Amino acid sequence: MKEIAVYPGTFDPITHGHVDIIQRGLRMFDKIVVAVSTSAGKVPLFPLAERLNMVQQAFADSSYIQVIPFSGLLVDLMRDQQINVILRGIRTSSDIEHEFQLADMNQQMHAEIETVFLKAMPRYMNISSSIVREIIKMNKEGSRGDLSLFVPQAVMDALQQPQKS
Ligand code: ADP
Repeated sequence: MKEIAVYPGTFDPITHGHVDIIQRGLRMFDKIVVAVSTSAGKVPLFPLAERLNMVQQAFADSSYIQVIPFSGLLVDLMRDQQINVILRGIRTSSDIEHEFQLADMNQQMHAEIETVFLKAMPRYMNISSSIVREIIKMNKEGSRGDLSLFVPQAVMDALQQPQKS
């Protein structure tokens, strides 16, 4: 039987840290379903379609990655897709508290579910989508932050498009 994991997140935008978690996850799983949250309640910088597209482009060459949108409870998606493993990344101790809480609540709602955590590689542990978003905003006002340090080419390409975030 194929081992499949769901890697859920907002990916606003996808960063080198996310890409690394997915690539390392593929050493353990035959397939990873990247579930991009619609983020109801938050106002993402990149609309869902763009976030999906950037993740898809980042993994355009891999048939082991499936990218899907999702809204609502992750456990519902897991039941619908019949997948029992959630993949998450942990950067610092501040991630741990939140991630453990999510993992416990998901397991309480769906006892079959296991969450597997991968520790961020040291070179990526300080990369966060929220700081990337701050740099994007500052670049729009004339700063020249080198975003390629933090995000894959797919995000750089999206930022080149006129009228885009
Ligand atoms: P969410 O809104 O669900 O936290 P994110 O897109 O911010 O969505 O993150 C998705 C997952 O990726 C989370 O488990 C998060 O801890 C992890 N993650 C985010 N940035 C990194 C990084 N630089 N290295 C490793 N894991 C990361």
